[in-house]
Amino acid sequence: MRNLVTGGAGFVGSHIVEKLLSYGEEVICLDNYFTGRKTNILHLKEKPNLEIIRHDITEPILLEVDKIWHFACPASPVHYQSNPIKTAKISFLGTYNMLGLAKRVGARFLMASTSEVYGDPEVNPQSEDYKGSVNTFGIRACYDEGKRIAETLCFDFNRIHNVEIRVARIFNTYGPKMLADDGRVVSNFIVQALRNEKLTIYGNGQQTRSFCYIDDLVNGIIKLMNSDYSKPINIGNPKEFTILELAEIINSKFDWDLKYKFKPLPQDDPLQRKPSIELAKKELDWNPTIELSEGLEKTIDYFKKTL
Ligand code: NAD
Ligand code: UDP
Repeated sequence: MRNLVTGGAGFVGSHIVEKLLSYGEEVICLDNYFTGRKTNILHLKEKPNLEIIRHDITEPILLEVDKIWHFACPASPVHYQSNPIKTAKISFLGTYNMLGLAKRVGARFLMASTSEVYGDPEVNPQSEDYKGSVNTFGIRACYDEGKRIAETLCFDFNRIHNVEIRVARIFNTYGPKMLADDGRVVSNFIVQALRNEKLTIYGNGQQTRSFCYIDDLVNGIIKLMNSDYSKPINIGNPKEFTILELAEIINSKFDWDLKYKFKPLPQDDPLQRKPSIELAKKELDWNPTIELSEGLEKTIDYFKKTL
């Protein structure tokens, strides 16, 4: 199998690249290094079945592949809000270009969508049939609406051009290879803790998230690509924590007592998020297995080594 992983030098993409190489498959890793790093994949560069290409997906490219794993897009609010028009362009034009490539070469296309398509949800947990509550003109819209139009493009390429699609709605994922300065809550808290700085809690810390360890996510994504299921499907860990609870669990991993610094809640920050994964259990026989406490320990070990 010849695979193209867009965003292959990023956090999630680099884990997918590594997993596919371990199966002996051919992999083209494509990235423009906006938020990805060469160090995420450099240890793999001697592998004969890996090819690394620097390319911006807002420009077309022609490559002969059988499967496209479409992960290129900044995912952390800090990064996707730093150049919001580019974020919307990556989501629309980048996805359009990669779907066009899938159509030309007859490749199966997996889209890394997100729980953000549900916006600030009025229902909890969120199942795939919930249509979402997204602010079209807020600071998160470039990403949320970008992913919604990307999903739309996938289904229209399927209806009009018979492109085989898979759409994963990914919920908050964490683990080794996250960027230390990414601004996401897990990396922020761990880096702050290791530096003995105060943990920055936005708002009152009562907003919730559900955190999935990267290995669980990668297993779910690979099962989805290899399945026959072609509608959107949630991939995430259904255990829900408040941000203050997350801070306390991270605190319990350190010998010293961590202090908190409260900051304003960013605009449109969703107050709750928890996936229903009934569909993934049924269609993919997938269930996350790594508890938050265990995953955080592995992530803390990674940051201890790399900071
Ligand atoms: P990341 O920022 O670590 O990785 C994104 C990668 O895409 C980076 O390597 C970046 O350099 C690359 N990229 C960005 N713009 C590009 C462009 N124009 N051309 C080529 N490459 C480009 O983020 P991540 O956490 O690994 O997320 C990967 C994908 O998964 C994203 O599409 C994201 O929306 C989705 N996702 C992630 C999460 C999560 O919790 N990590 C949750 C939901 C969805
Ligand atoms: N958050 C926080 N402190 C931080 C970073 C994030 O309290 O230093 C909060 C943020 O406001 C949000 C939650 O943690 O409510 C998850 O934020 P993240 O950026 O990781 O992901 P997303 O909001 O996209 O789910």
